[in-house]
Amino acid sequence: MSNVKLKLLGAAKEVGRAGILVSMSDTNILLDYGVSLSEEEPGFPLHVKPRILDAVALSHAHLDHSGAIPLLYVSAGPPLLSTALTATLSELLIRDFLKLSKYYVPYESSELESMMEHLNLQEYGSTYSVSGVEVKFYDAGHIPGSAIISVEDGSWKIVYTGDFNGERSCLLNGADLSPLRDADIVIMESTYAEYDHPPRDENEENFVSKLYEVLESGGTVLIPSFAVGRAQEILCVLAKHNFDFPVYLDGMAKTASEIIKEEGELLRDPELFRDAMDMAIKVRNWNMRKRIVEENAVIVSPAGMLKGGPSVYYMEKIMERPENGVFFVSYLIPETPGRKVIETGIFSSPTKKGVVNARIEWFDFSAHSGKTQLLEAIEATKKNAKIVIVHGREEPELKLAKAARERGREAIIPSLGEEKVFA
Ligand SMILES: [Zn+2]
Ligand SMILES: [Zn+2]
Repeated sequence: MSNVKLKLLGAAKEVGRAGILVSMSDTNILLDYGVSLSEEEPGFPLHVKPRILDAVALSHAHLDHSGAIPLLYVSAGPPLLSTALTATLSELLIRDFLKLSKYYVPYESSELESMMEHLNLQEYGSTYSVSGVEVKFYDAGHIPGSAIISVEDGSWKIVYTGDFNGERSCLLNGADLSPLRDADIVIMESTYAEYDHPPRDENEENFVSKLYEVLESGGTVLIPSFAVGRAQEILCVLAKHNFDFPVYLDGMAKTASEIIKEEGELLRDPELFRDAMDMAIKVRNWNMRKRIVEENAVIVSPAGMLKGGPSVYYMEKIMERPENGVFFVSYLIPETPGRKVIETGIFSSPTKKGVVNARIEWFDFSAHSGKTQLLEAIEATKKNAKIVIVHGREEPELKLAKAARERGREAIIPSLGEEKVFA
């Protein structure tokens, strides 16, 4: 039986800069190569020589999985395996990242273009073969286009969950866990290993009824949202509940929605998504922005953490009136303007600082598996499977490792740069 070597280039005891080098049968496959965005300056994963790579497999478009990939395409570069949707959404997000952080990013748009030229598009269920190693993609249920990836050489089967959601949402089907059943090694995210998300239906009802409370008393509600995935999920929730106030969509969420619409058949309910897109009114210009902040309406706009994008303008305009509302629907990284609004009731941007009189709410619309779904994924593996735990803070990683051991699996929490050999 051949050896397998895993090297963690990032996402070791942290959420961010995912990057795992898998070496088997003299073949090197890199799973994800992302950045970390929790500090002012983006963080990059450990270096890997692009020329040793036989392929790069990208799980999904989020920058913590995709944002460092152009670094691998400075000269030539390996084939980039990705779903079509992930490829297009990654290009959108990386371009925006380059624009916002260009002084800190060690590549340019020419490397992004080279990356896109090396694409080798994969569908769920399709197989890519390189020197006796097979790479397959499965639906991860996390954001549109997201994938669970398996790599196998006849002796070993490794499955990388990427970010995955075991539960279905309005937008997506839950993750396809079938590749986990006969995996020898499962590299698993652990972001929310410590707790469960609230029941989906209850959470939606609560969200919609609170929106009505604000709107029916004459207010405007800003929903700061991630452009990819979350904005579309919110629109689907509103369409599902036949929401009858105007819903505006702004910023990069407009482009992302158009891209996702092209691949509508991958979504859980393509018809609901079409209804959601028909319902959303796209904001076209500054005149329209100025007008709609006075309207009795909902505005869905990035950035989700109020760090930039049109949501900052809307927040400045709506925050003072107590009839208005700001409803957060995304995870808020500590120290971001959005997190500070939740913690202190004060909003601060480069152009304005003040107390938020508008109603502040936060809803858990997470696209990650909660504790229950992570345990279900572990239980889906065979008894002697090895669970390699990544993409979590230390506490949740330890809890998931303990739970895995209690279920008869071997659990490993690798450190940054550490090489794990399985023989
Ligand atoms: Zn993600
Ligand atoms: Zn992630």
